Amino acid sequence: MNTSQILPGSTICILGAGQLGKMSLIAAHQLGFKTMVWSPDSVPGVLDPAMAMATHRLRRPFSCQTTIDEVLKNAAVITTEWENIPITLIQELQRRGGIVRPGNLVLEFAQSRRHEKQMAVQLGIPVTRHIWIEQGGLRLEHNWAAYLPGILKTNKLGYDGKGQWSVNSVEELVSVFAQADTDCVLEKRVDFAAEVSVLVARNADGEIAVSDLVQNTHQDGILDTTVWPICSSKAITRQISVVVQEAAVHVAKYLVLKGILVLEFFITKTGQCLFNEVAPRPHNSFHGSIEAAHTSQFEQHIRAICNLPLGAVRFHTPFQMKNLIGGAWESDWVPWMSQSGSRLHLYGKEDSKPGRKMGHVTILRPSK
Ligand code: ADP
Ligand code: MG
Repeated sequence: MNTSQILPGSTICILGAGQLGKMSLIAAHQLGFKTMVWSPDSVPGVLDPAMAMATHRLRRPFSCQTTIDEVLKNAAVITTEWENIPITLIQELQRRGGIVRPGNLVLEFAQSRRHEKQMAVQLGIPVTRHIWIEQGGLRLEHNWAAYLPGILKTNKLGYDGKGQWSVNSVEELVSVFAQADTDCVLEKRVDFAAEVSVLVARNADGEIAVSDLVQNTHQDGILDTTVWPICSSKAITRQISVVVQEAAVHVAKYLVLKGILVLEFFITKTGQCLFNEVAPRPHNSFHGSIEAAHTSQFEQHIRAICNLPLGAVRFHTPFQMKNLIGGAWESDWVPWMSQSGSRLHLYGKEDSKPGRKMGHVTILRPSK
């Protein structure tokens, strides 16, 4: 037996309590692990999706010292389902002997668009045309036209299209940048043929497994659908898949990853693969792996952080995954219950707000 393996029966602690945590916990329980979830009380009285599933629930602020003691005493490994967990907490858990996977280095890259883009450039992975604008540092004499039409994104804390704005003119840039009031990047809008993502896993023994590519469609900056196989575009050749997969492996090795990463790419009409961003955790675009892949992304996450042999996030069945977004979502999910070949996942969020991810449905063997 490999003594660095974390075996079933041990406790896994997840920091964060959203749907990604919930589905990781389901995979952890299936493999025989016990679980803890630690997340602050953001909405009093409302169980966040992962809280409802955990063996131990720690609904406390991330600054709570007694909770740090409790986690270190009980958890064989600590992981994250959200990249914006305070780095100081991760560092303290590590300093006091906790095994945190992926650890502070990976989270520091993923928390900052600047760091992740710089890493890609350093590794020779092409990125979108962009320019950094520091808070208060917008100079009107600059040649902004080279980056317009563009998308202004905050360096930190953006997700699901939040913290980013479409800008078409210098006037718009000035007003939107003032509104953002923080360090930003202005990216030239890419007229892409397709958006794709890829998942790479690496365990502490250095075993690496890379997934098939999936194709994503966004609406208002939020993922709407994901499909496999990649069908819509002849632009995505076998060669492009290999380029994207190799880039993912390169990043995993560079970061000495112990866990999983999902990388998003734009594929241009001329076949260039432009890195967009990286998530150090399970990702919405791989939810279809629960039903359609040999190993789901959530099980791969658990295997990777426990230094167990990796599985294959390779698809055996064509699928389409559709997100169910808050607002009028009740009318969205009910019809799926009577559709054979569709698998409905509702996250158990009590508050349905426009733009909030409430659930998803995976349609196996969708008709074209
Ligand atoms: P988030 O953290 O919100 O996922 P992203 O940078 O991935 O932020 O942007 C969300 C979506 O907005 C992308 O998946 C894509 O559809 C669109 N988008 C972002 N940047 C660009 C760009 N430079 N060109 C074209 N579309 C973009
Ligand atoms: Mg994204």
